[in-house]
Amino acid sequence: MVSERRSSPHSDPAGHPPLIETLDRAGLRITGPRRAVADLIDARSGLFSAQDLLDDAGRKRVPIGRATVFRALDLLEELGVVERIELPDGGHAYVACEPAHHHHAVCDGCGRVREVDDHALTDAIAEIERHTGWTVSGHRLELYGRCPECRTTAPAEASRS
Ligand SMILES: [Zn+2]
Ligand SMILES: [Zn+2]
Ligand SMILES: [Zn+2]
Repeated sequence: MVSERRSSPHSDPAGHPPLIETLDRAGLRITGPRRAVADLIDARSGLFSAQDLLDDAGRKRVPIGRATVFRALDLLEELGVVERIELPDGGHAYVACEPAHHHHAVCDGCGRVREVDDHALTDAIAEIERHTGWTVSGHRLELYGRCPECRTTAPAEASRS
């Protein structure tokens, strides 16, 4: 038996700087309801959906509607501080991010998201350019799997040798 551990879902201290701060530092004037949406996002960690934000807004009595949430998400996504992530089940979710280029590892056990940088990928792409003669101008990569915590809590199908 594997030693028992508390499985604490969604307890990831996401590690991204507060959205509002990022927006202010970039000199972006975001007013009223959109600011409220940014606040709601800051209060979360890991993946969230538009519906999650609406639920939060309801609980906190923040008077914003569906259309406002979607418009704010679009804007924040355009600014690169929120990213839309495709999930393996065909759905999608959002996550707050630093505007710098990076990738995500998404845990399908607890939903936590870790930002991962390019490391060897940059070399791999240079290699692909050499082989194909193409110039690669962009790429997307998302990684799915189990975070270290979920790996220790879920024995899963460990032995298949
Ligand atoms: Zn990100
Ligand atoms: Zn996990
Ligand atoms: Zn990359």
